[in-house]
Amino acid sequence: MRWVRTLMMQLTVVAVLAGLGNTVTLADDLKGQAAGPKKPLAKNVILMISDGCGYNHVDAASLFEHGKTGVQVYESFPFRAGMSTYSYSKGTLGRLTLGEYDPSKAWSDPQYVTRGYTDSAAASTTMSTGHKTYGGAIGMDTNREPLLHAWEKAERAGKMTGVVSSVQWSHATPAAFVAHNESRSNYAAIACEMLSENPTDVIMGCGHPWFDANGQSKTKPNKFDFVGGQETWNALADGRTGGDADGDGKADRWTLVQTREEFQSLMTGPTPQRVCGVAQVSKTLQQGRAGDAEAVPFQVPLIETVPTLAEMTRAAINVLDDDPDGFCLMIEAGAVDWAGHDNQTGRTIEEQIDFNRAVEAVVQWVDQNSSWDDTLLIVTADHETGYLTAPVPTGQPSPDASVRLTNNGKGVSPGLKWNSGSHTNCLVPVYAKGTAARLLTKLADQQDPKRGAYVDNAEIGKVLHAVISGAE
Ligand SMILES: [Zn+2]
Repeated sequence: MRWVRTLMMQLTVVAVLAGLGNTVTLADDLKGQAAGPKKPLAKNVILMISDGCGYNHVDAASLFEHGKTGVQVYESFPFRAGMSTYSYSKGTLGRLTLGEYDPSKAWSDPQYVTRGYTDSAAASTTMSTGHKTYGGAIGMDTNREPLLHAWEKAERAGKMTGVVSSVQWSHATPAAFVAHNESRSNYAAIACEMLSENPTDVIMGCGHPWFDANGQSKTKPNKFDFVGGQETWNALADGRTGGDADGDGKADRWTLVQTREEFQSLMTGPTPQRVCGVAQVSKTLQQGRAGDAEAVPFQVPLIETVPTLAEMTRAAINVLDDDPDGFCLMIEAGAVDWAGHDNQTGRTIEEQIDFNRAVEAVVQWVDQNSSWDDTLLIVTADHETGYLTAPVPTGQPSPDASVRLTNNGKGVSPGLKWNSGSHTNCLVPVYAKGTAARLLTKLADQQDPKRGAYVDNAEIGKVLHAVISGAE
């Protein structure tokens, strides 16, 4: 959103001219701070979500990649804690009841975490708004009333915003940062809202109607739901889609990018104002490709015609970083969850590694183009998927998620066991870097016997809103 920026720049010029020749005292300065608009605690906020990633998913990828754990870039961030993720769900008599995470039960009853888990829609809505809600809710509260997204607040403050995913861009996680719908399943309506009613500036993901899971073009299209229906898709391709994003009363059209080369060309140099990137694959970048899903990671050749999550990330940031007011970006590795549901060890490791490269790309961008005073980076998950643990020895019937996976050395999948095909209510890790991460440190006041200090996912939402509005 650029009009606010222009206005603010003009106001700044006026303020500087008015201040010429005056001596500003500390008292004036404090008075000015109390009276004037609050300065955001960070100019840029980047939230990265590995969907379905628990502690053992991080370790599985690290053991395969490095033969050791604790080596991912985010694992040395100054803020490291656990995060509870429970949501509202239908209890007895069909009444919505708020779940819980009880640390003592979580480690004394191995089945405890297999109940009362969240879905991605509720978890992401909570991280985006600070409010717990019901499973399937996209930016809606338990009364089915729309909630204010942190990214909407950022748009009002003149920032640019975006969402990036390695699955369909209208899927639960990206949708839950910008859209409002009673149900995550209403893909076409969600996609239309994202393209036509929302002021967001970057949308990237999969869900291409004319390509299959292997990135091959089709003569008969897939359903157009993920891109908002056939008419919306045609209008998007023709550059006719997009509402007034910047408040000047004129429509701001989306520029559609599709090929890997188009994504890569956005990584540097000048960019269009609003970019919708739809990779040329049906549902997800690589996890859905043909070939033995149980093979050693990367043994089945990757689809070369789709970008990596890191390439999408670089492209998205390069579009958004033109705004001097800053930007807010959510990046999701959506298929870690899908591989987890199918208990695919190799693909889980591939997807988590793709996520790790994207985090490294963000860290590199901050180091080279911004600063940790200006940018807050939070790396986390929405929930754990698969109840991934170390192999359970004979005679020990119950999994224990705190036992370390068996290290089989670099380039070999570690010894592990999938104990579920669903989500769990286990704590997930959260890592943060940036001066504004001090807000998270204040909130990490709950203790888990195995994972240590932890926050709740609603507190992530509260931090995002506080950082954007400048309130502590
Ligand atoms: Zn899932």
